[in-house]
Amino acid sequence: MVVILNDKASEVQIADVKKHLEDYGFQVHESRGEAKTILGAIGVNPGFDIRKVKILDGVSDVYRVTAPFKMASRDFKSDDTIIKVGNVEIGSNEIILMAGPCSIESEDQIFRLAKVVAESGSKVLRGGAFKPRTSPYSFQGMGEEGLKLMRAAADEYGLLMVTEVMQVSQIDLIEKYTDIFQIGARNMQNFGLLKELGSSSKSVMLKRGLAATIEDWLMSAEYILASGNANVMLCERGIRTFETYTRNTFDLSAIPVVHDKSHLPVVADPSHATGYRKQVAPMARAAVAAGADSLMIEIHDKPEEALSDGPQALLPADYLTLVQELKVIATAIGRTI
Ligand code: PEP
Ligand code: MN
Repeated sequence: MVVILNDKASEVQIADVKKHLEDYGFQVHESRGEAKTILGAIGVNPGFDIRKVKILDGVSDVYRVTAPFKMASRDFKSDDTIIKVGNVEIGSNEIILMAGPCSIESEDQIFRLAKVVAESGSKVLRGGAFKPRTSPYSFQGMGEEGLKLMRAAADEYGLLMVTEVMQVSQIDLIEKYTDIFQIGARNMQNFGLLKELGSSSKSVMLKRGLAATIEDWLMSAEYILASGNANVMLCERGIRTFETYTRNTFDLSAIPVVHDKSHLPVVADPSHATGYRKQVAPMARAAVAAGADSLMIEIHDKPEEALSDGPQALLPADYLTLVQELKVIATAIGRTI
């Protein structure tokens, strides 16, 4: 941690700041320039709240030099994490496509869409059985019946499946069916859920919260890693901004930032990030170009009848075209799909 003192800080204030730092357990190194005094504080506990130093008299600024996350960081593990789920590897040179409806709606619907997903060469079927809806009056998902149908559809077409878990009490049930747990944006900081999934043998896809910084997001991943589950992938699904022409703002730059700061694979979700069918394919192409390790895309063959997120669902034919385009982009950057 670097502590910069005010140009006008008195000797008494400087001594007081040093005393506080030592009392907090830091080793302090002082460096004096013409006008500025800078204190280097070594031995920062990752959980230390730097505001404790920012508020001291005479301090003008405080910077952390080391990230507050450990196990999620590139410094902890320099090689990319490759998550093996069945015969699929997420985080390797191959970009893994995940697609399916927002919600599982019926046996017929999930089987029809699983067929499209398999035909496109995508490896993972997505779909929600427990849905986090903004309104309590909206469709809440089919529950266990939906999980059964989705598992059967995935098996029929040789696909893996990813589905959302919203609360601790659902873990045991969902674990019986799914290959990958999805933690939705609204639950990114449901710390009880994060800790509990730390003891699962199944991998976890952690979506970025609506108003979460990349650091908040990596700290949430840290909870799962520190609780014992190393198979965590991060999913950028757009963040809340002042923009209204998109449902959310797709933070494409989060992809290279996470790759720089962390070894964990990054999934991009251009469907929730944009919210409108027209915007999904361009942002999916951009996500591959930006280095996403996997894409998760919502599709529906009758989007006007969809029980959730119909306006952002790609039609099967458009999805098939998009996959062909993504393959070209992947080749251009030395990857495969
Ligand atoms: C979803 O994947 O359908 C979903 C609800 O996602 P998010 O948590 O990103 O809103
Ligand atoms: Mn959705």
